[in-house]
Amino acid sequence: MKLPRLTSSTARHPLLLTLLATMWLVTLPNMALWRQLAQLPEVTGLRGLLFGLGLALGIASLTHALLSLLNWRGLLKPVLTLFLLSAASGAYFMWSYGIVIDATMIVNVMQTDPREAGDLLNWRLLLSLVFLGILPAVWLWRQPVQPVAWTRRLWTNALAFAVSMAVLVISLLLIYQDFASVMRNHTQMRYLINPLNSFYAVGRVVAQPLERSHQTVEPIGQDARLALPASAQPATLIVVVGETARSGNFGVNGYERDTTPRLAREDIVSLRNVWSCGTSTAASLPCMFSHLGKEAYEKRKANHESLVDVLQHAGLAVLWVDNQSGCKGVCARVPNFSTAGLKVPEQCESGECHDEVMLHDLDQRIAQLPAERRAKGVVVFMHQMGSHGPAYHKRAPATFKRFMPECSSNALQECERQQVVNAYDNTIAYTDHFLGQTIDWLKKRPGPSAMVYLADHGESLGENNLYLHGLPYAIAPDVQKRVPWITWSSTSFVQQRGLQKNCLQDKQMSAISHDHFFHSVMGMAGVRSTEYKTELDIYSSCMKP
Ligand SMILES: [Zn+2]
Repeated sequence: MKLPRLTSSTARHPLLLTLLATMWLVTLPNMALWRQLAQLPEVTGLRGLLFGLGLALGIASLTHALLSLLNWRGLLKPVLTLFLLSAASGAYFMWSYGIVIDATMIVNVMQTDPREAGDLLNWRLLLSLVFLGILPAVWLWRQPVQPVAWTRRLWTNALAFAVSMAVLVISLLLIYQDFASVMRNHTQMRYLINPLNSFYAVGRVVAQPLERSHQTVEPIGQDARLALPASAQPATLIVVVGETARSGNFGVNGYERDTTPRLAREDIVSLRNVWSCGTSTAASLPCMFSHLGKEAYEKRKANHESLVDVLQHAGLAVLWVDNQSGCKGVCARVPNFSTAGLKVPEQCESGECHDEVMLHDLDQRIAQLPAERRAKGVVVFMHQMGSHGPAYHKRAPATFKRFMPECSSNALQECERQQVVNAYDNTIAYTDHFLGQTIDWLKKRPGPSAMVYLADHGESLGENNLYLHGLPYAIAPDVQKRVPWITWSSTSFVQQRGLQKNCLQDKQMSAISHDHFFHSVMGMAGVRSTEYKTELDIYSSCMKP
């Protein structure tokens, strides 16, 4: 048998490579989009099929138009490789977890630490990377490309771009009626167009700093002061910033499972109708610590100091302890401590510490804060690892795993749904224990003390095939947005501030949001400044002067 010799006649024309890559990208790597389309009730039957074909043609033309601009010698193969690998990784997460890729998701990815990234690695991800991205890229690099003079290539590219744009316009015109209604009613669909969604989102993230001056942080609340009688005993306030806690999975909030036996024994008030600012840590955390509130925060033109700074300006001893991937900038200007690298026996296993570690040596850490500040009062922020997924099974020590069997894989879709819920509920049971230990710690402190616990966002646990969190706010299900807000206060705190717990209890079902957090924590800390708004302090109407 005679093997074909590699001659210039077997070399591929560059245009053929962009066409083949486009056809590949629009099919398998976009399966999440096609699955979603197939489930839409308004486009079914033959009309649905035609709509799908029209949309596929439109997406292919758009992708190909973009590739035509980048079809240059030396550039084509790297560009196509980038397209293939982006598409492969995006496809896995969209298909498996029902997420979409937008600017917030890109920020989340950029802020992920190696520990979190390790949680996401599994053989399914590797398999889809290999099959959807690496193998096609290997094939691509093995193809000899016909040398085409650059003038001729310029003409070919221009023509390919023009034809692609023409096909795009024609295909959209043909399906315009359905296209307009689907895009209006299901805005998330455009974040599924792979890999253009990733490129668009990265572009948005890069453009954002240009829209707002990122370097400077404008001070706020510099007039903050402690508004308590000089004779008042200094208080200790612990603010626990929860992670990925869904309100409905707390026993104290009426969940059918008793996930919170420890909190149920304490005299706490748990608010059940609280809504987060965003659906991810990167979106929620800076927003809840901002004085602006969700709406103004999202439109902000400048960056401001946070709640933590205002308490510091008031002269209090402020400390931030972090058992998460960082405080997203809100604690940058106050004493802060990360548990990363701690090796406390029994609390730190496999490179990660359970939340209780934040109470370890806390007395000593507070003692290191300036004495004149401590004399006014102490506020400690504790940022939990909480229920961070998908490796829920890593978040709770074995002794707290009461709901079995639990999913012990990070590929959640491999487990039965009930096992995913079990693993998640075990993390809530551990948070219950952690909050109980925090209350015990506070009870031993001299002077009045209180704890405020509020989570950053909720979580999807397989409802409608959605997992994790981070969907755009407008389309995210309520379970990603409804968060627990729990308050505990010591008897002497109640006496000092005239706090009426039954008044607070009456707000159990009142609509409350992260917008209230900034002002309510100021209220609990006894701090006032021009930024403080009484109407947004959920405690103020329940405190008798
Ligand atoms: Zn979070």
